[in-house]
Parts: sequence; C-alpha cells; structure tokens
Amino acid sequence: MGVLKNIAIGILTLSLLTFIALFGQLPALRKTPIGWLQRALCLHLPNGLRAIDGRATGGRITSHSKRLGRYLFYEQNPVVLILFLTLLTGSAGLFIWNALYQLPLRLILPIPVVLIPPYWFTYLSAAYNSHYITPANHKERLHDYPYDHVLFRPGTVCKTCNLTKPARSKHCSLCGYCVAKCDHHCPWVANCLGRGNYRYFLALLLTLGILQIYGAYLSYWILRPYLDVSNAGSLMSSEYWTELGDAIVDAVNMGGLSIAGVGLLAATTAALPLGLLAYHCYLIWAGMTTNETQKWADWRDDMSDAIVFRTTRDELLSHASTRSDGDQEVNGADGAAQKGLADDLGVTEEEPRVSWPIRSSQVIVRTNDGRPPRGQESLWTRIWCLGDVDNLYDLGGWDNLMEVMKGR
Ligand SMILES: [Zn+2]
Ligand SMILES: [Zn+2]
Repeated sequence: MGVLKNIAIGILTLSLLTFIALFGQLPALRKTPIGWLQRALCLHLPNGLRAIDGRATGGRITSHSKRLGRYLFYEQNPVVLILFLTLLTGSAGLFIWNALYQLPLRLILPIPVVLIPPYWFTYLSAAYNSHYITPANHKERLHDYPYDHVLFRPGTVCKTCNLTKPARSKHCSLCGYCVAKCDHHCPWVANCLGRGNYRYFLALLLTLGILQIYGAYLSYWILRPYLDVSNAGSLMSSEYWTELGDAIVDAVNMGGLSIAGVGLLAATTAALPLGLLAYHCYLIWAGMTTNETQKWADWRDDMSDAIVFRTTRDELLSHASTRSDGDQEVNGADGAAQKGLADDLGVTEEEPRVSWPIRSSQVIVRTNDGRPPRGQESLWTRIWCLGDVDNLYDLGGWDNLMEVMKGR
C-alpha cells in the first residue's frame, strides 16, 4: 500500500512541477506566484545545484547534464517524442490489458475512438514539412501575410537560409529552416508548429485531454464500489473526510498500478494538454502566435519606458523623399540620414502585394535615448500602450480560428 501511495504523491508532484515549468514563463504569469515558482525551480535551484557540484566534483555532473540538456532541448532529436509515445502506449496498454474484462461493452466501444486520434495527430504534427521556407516556395510565402512594421519589417534576411524573412516567420535552429507563421518548436512532436500543422497540434491537445479524462473515468468506474462514502455523514464532518481518505486508499490498493495508477496519472495530467489548449485558444482569440506574444511583451515594456514612437509609412516616405530631393544641396548629409532611417525600417514604395483583409500604414520604432528619431521630431508621436498599435494579424476571434482551421 505504501508504495502506491508514494506513486500517487509522486505523480501529483510531477504534474504540478511540469505545470509550473510550462506555464510560469508565459508573459501573463511572469509576475504571479506561478512565475516566481518557475524561476525558483528553473533558475535558482539549478544554480544552487551547480554550485554544490562545483565544490563536490569540480563541475563534472554539471557539464554532463548540460550536454544532455543541449541534446534534448537544443538539437533536433526524437527523444521526447519517443518518451511521450512510450508513456502513452505503456499506460494505455497496461490499463486495457487489466481493465478490459471488468468493463461493459458500452464502455469498451469508445476506447479505440478516443485512443487513436492522439496518435494520428502526433503523426500529422511531426511529419509535416510544408511550413519550412525553401527557395522553391519562398515567393509564395512572401504573399501570405503583410508586414506590420512592428513585429515584422520587410527586407530582413535570414543569415542561415539567405532568404528574405516573410512576415510572421522565424528561423528555427533545430529544424534548420525558416518556418512560416512559426508558433514554437515543440519537442513533443520534434517539429516546429506553424502554418499548416498548428491545427494538428491543437487537435492533439484536445484529443489527448479527452483520452485522459475518459481513461480516468473508466478507472473511477471500476473502482467506484470502493469509493462509496454514502454512510459517512455530512460533507462538513471530519468523519466524512476520514472515510473518503480511507476509501481512496482502499480503491488505490484494489486497483493497483494498472488501474488506479494509470487513472490517477490520467486525471492529474489531463490539465496539462487542456490548459495548454486553453492558452492557445486565447492566443487565437488575440490574433497572436507564441513567438509573437514574446515580441508584443517586449514592445509593451518598452512603451511603458516611453521609448516607442509611431508614424505612418506615407509620412515617412514623403518626408524622406522631400529631404533627399529638395534639401539635398543645403542639407545633403541629413537628407541621406532620413532616407537611411526609412530604409533601415524597411519602408519602401514597394512591398509584396498581399490579399489580407486589414491594412495599416503604421510604422513603429523604439529609440535608445527615448527621444523621437533625430530631424523627424514632428513626424513621430510617442505611444504608451499596445492599444495605440494595430495588430494586423488579428482579424477577430472567429476569423482567426477559421484561418487556423484552414491551415493558414
Ligand atoms: Zn532561416
Ligand atoms: Zn523547429
């Protein structure tokens, strides 16, 4: 009995730690207890261990674990994918093998219906490669999204791929490509999630959550005779809670690892895919990718530091051209500088033509000294919050969802 209780506590602790590590670094949670715990767990604890290891073994354990960490998280490898599939297959297999004869047919029939989709969507997310930007599809990718002149400026070239970066793309050093509408690199499927396979990832989260809830329900269904506390009195009494505790211990004891253990694992970890899915629903509603949330968070911080300014493309272009044409003789060097800023910001007459429902002529810039760009003070207005900027990629919650569903 003691062993099973320890397993249950272990599973609970592990899922709590995973939750903190996964969600603590999200911009929205950075300044909450979850964010503090994440930093204690992922920053201060490793630093402390490193110091101890430095004294005890001269840092040998640190360098080995660093190499392992780099391989696991910074090199393209299927280790996490294999671990995930092993855990999924192992617990499902163990459960089905031991539970099947205790279940009625009506509860057995849905098992393949909930079990197969997570595998299918893992395969679809992992095997997808049309979101990699190559010389062959580069031209087409440039016409997917307009540049918003905040997060993405035209004319930025990827040094590795040697291609102009399309709006919303990001180079992934693990995949070795620039990825169209890159959301993030997911070690669970050993691939980047982006234009085309992001929807499969969402389906994976949803179907995995459903599988876990159904698995937990089946385990409960088998063990429910042991969980009967109807004679224990009112919910407020201490007897009730003692009885419930005893019943859970009994049930875990009777169910063993294959039924109670797997059921507990499924129940406690179902919050992970479903919580992640909820977060991605929020991102879709807000018209952002995970990659873009980080960029928006940086802009928000810079805006509260009062170093961000806004103008329009037309104003910047007409200013640059009058300066460099009309004032050339009087003010040649300055005129060139004006033109230089427009060029640096990628503001030119020509931009890829994109059929996108929203247009904006905004140009946003941050300056080092908190003053508007020199010689153009009249052109730029200081802005203080993200509300002063257009998110060109937000078509409205429902339309954003439809775009994702269509693989765009
Ligand atoms: Zn690249
Ligand atoms: Zn990647």
